[in-house]
Amino acid sequence: MSEIAVQLKITRARIAQAEHAARRPAGSVALLAVSKTCPAEAVREAFAAGQRAFGENYVQEALDKITALADLREQLEWHFIGPLQSNKTRAVAEHFDWVHSVDRLKIAQRLAAQRPAHLPPLNVCLQVNISGEASKSGVSAAEAKATAHAIAALPGLRLRGLMAIPEAAAEFAAQRLPHRRLSDLFKALCADGLDLDTLSAGMSADLEAAVLEGATLVRIGTAIFGARTYPPAAADPAA
Ligand SMILES: *Cc1c(COP(=O)(O)O)cnc(C)c1O
Repeated sequence: MSEIAVQLKITRARIAQAEHAARRPAGSVALLAVSKTCPAEAVREAFAAGQRAFGENYVQEALDKITALADLREQLEWHFIGPLQSNKTRAVAEHFDWVHSVDRLKIAQRLAAQRPAHLPPLNVCLQVNISGEASKSGVSAAEAKATAHAIAALPGLRLRGLMAIPEAAAEFAAQRLPHRRLSDLFKALCADGLDLDTLSAGMSADLEAAVLEGATLVRIGTAIFGARTYPPAAADPAA
């Protein structure tokens, strides 16, 4: 078994254990393998080990990888999860299946207008700055409702849910708090008539806390592919 296959197996076991601890059905949490900064060959290895959904942060790096893996395109799901600038929306609308990092209505409007008609609607999540950190993008919890309704009304997109990157915390109880707030917001939006099924939260360090609080998708990079070896900024200086 390749190292990536071993780490994928361990990660799937972590998710299964967390689902069990949360008394949630087995298989209720999807695994997005975050392949940013990893070579296309690493994605191929993960694919061989059964992984189908991959997350990328940098547009140019992702396009190169999608091209290198064109033979697998029909079987892969590409998720854009990084900060998205207006001048990069067209490439994302044309080449990805999902965008988790929609952090303002203007970006959603551009993606909607630029999604090619021959493709199915682009799945999107609204990013919420759940810990209120100045350094993180995302709408505030207070803005989420109005923005979510506006996005849900756009053609070419399908609003699937919310995404957040909570402030890092070492203690399990402290990790749970922002995930709880996100989950409460998600439930409030569903009760408000939005048809949402995706709560994208949880990374390598806080997967268990996220699943306990209701995440339906975890975005895992380091635990599968190992420590990233070059600084993210080097991957796409313009992103
Ligand atoms: C890099 C990244 C991840 C994966 O983080 P790990 O700690 O390596 O699991 C998840 N989500 C987003 C938005 C990221 O940028």
